[in-house]
Amino acid sequence: MITETVDVAIVGGGIIGICAAFKLQEAGRTTLLIDRKGLAEETSRGNAGAFAFSDVIPMANSGVLQKLPKWLSDPLGPLTIRPEYLAQITPWMMRFWRAGWPDRVAASIRAQSALMRVARSEAESLITNAGLEHLIRRDGVLELYESESELRGTAKDDAAKAAEGIEFRHVRGAELAELQPGLSPKIVAGTFIPKWETVQDPYDYALAVAEAATARGASFRKAEVTQLRPQDDGVIIELSDGTAIRAKQVVVAGGAWSKRLTSPLGDDIPLETERGYNTTLPGYSFDLKRQLFFGGHGFVVTPLASGIRVGGAVELGGLKLPPNFKRADAMLTKAARFMPGLATTGGKQWMGFRPSLPDSLPAIGFSRRSRNIVYAFGHGHLGLTQSAGTGKLVANLLTGAAQPIDMSPFSPQRF
Ligand SMILES: Cc1cc2nc3c(=O)[nH]c(=O)nc-3n(C[C@H](O)[C@H](O)[C@H](O)COP(=O)(O)OP(=O)(O)OC[C@H]3O[C@@H](n4cnc5c(N)ncnc54)[C@H](O)[C@@H]3O)c2cc1C
Repeated sequence: MITETVDVAIVGGGIIGICAAFKLQEAGRTTLLIDRKGLAEETSRGNAGAFAFSDVIPMANSGVLQKLPKWLSDPLGPLTIRPEYLAQITPWMMRFWRAGWPDRVAASIRAQSALMRVARSEAESLITNAGLEHLIRRDGVLELYESESELRGTAKDDAAKAAEGIEFRHVRGAELAELQPGLSPKIVAGTFIPKWETVQDPYDYALAVAEAATARGASFRKAEVTQLRPQDDGVIIELSDGTAIRAKQVVVAGGAWSKRLTSPLGDDIPLETERGYNTTLPGYSFDLKRQLFFGGHGFVVTPLASGIRVGGAVELGGLKLPPNFKRADAMLTKAARFMPGLATTGGKQWMGFRPSLPDSLPAIGFSRRSRNIVYAFGHGHLGLTQSAGTGKLVANLLTGAAQPIDMSPFSPQRF
């Protein structure tokens, strides 16, 4: 039974769906956000809050591929595969490995850089238009190293950053201590990226964007979508309670769960999840000046309005296996080693499901079956960063406006 007819329905109320609603409303469309849990209740709620516009290197690159055997041998290290999930993840890992070959990496950096330019300018415009400047911190990020050779190991990434015009400098001694007092002498150098921004809290930011979209006419419905049925003049959206919604057009922004809706439409997209863990400590736990990134150990420490968040790491374990919070404990222990004054008690643990494609680029484009259905998922480690840009690209697809960048690297059918 069809209970409602809408202009554009967006399946998924994470940061991607929310920003798509905002940008579509700005483009003159009327949107209904649908989510089974609520707004920003999944991955977009507990992430590390970085607008990582300078992060253009794909996860699969020669540095990571070299470290992979060592990382995989440590069950609590920066990257693990849950043994129960090994058989299922193997085809994705093969694609990941291929994506790390130099020709593919170069193409991926070009595409990601183009998307990041759109992401930055659209985020700035969203923040201004929605009046959200008070939710943004503009104090940069400090990447930290335990040895000069670890710093030298970033030479390739530095060259890629420089080629893209991303401002950064290496820091040591007094300058390092000034940027972040209280670090262990184990940390000998850092890279400071001054234009890196973070949000005061990713959950607050997502809800504030949703509120701004609502003020422009968007609405929300809590419901689970079980199937999309394309028609000549729109799409029927089947819900788990047996009712249905008719929409002129649909955006699938279901994060790591999107495949359930896209596979029946004939799109075989290698979407997996890179599960990530963190602990949010009370704000008084450390005098943290800005976001700190411990790349060699795969975790990040972020100052948020809600506290100090320590976490990251990648666990390949699908959507169903229970969390292993020993991973969050392990990152906290490591953080305390590098930040000796860190008080590690009173924290709240969390696990989130990054929606990840093997080449680290999202899928943004029309469904194979219908030009009334647009996909927008697979943003991996960069969903918050690319949310406003993705919203704008989705709005352009649905309104027929020209795109500012070549969309072929993001085609859902590229695999
Ligand atoms: C530890 C960690 C740290 C991170 N740090 C950063 C960072 O600093 N910067 C950054 O840019 N990114 C970061 N990320 C990545 C970022 O959080 C994700 O890329 C982003 O949240 C994905 O947003 P999304 O809207 O696609 O997915 P989600 O936030 O997961 O939202 C998808 C929504 O779709 C809903 N849904 C799915 N299927 C259905 C259905 N059938 N019916 C109804 N609803 C449905 C779900 O309930 C969910 O709410 C981090 C991720 C993790 C795990």
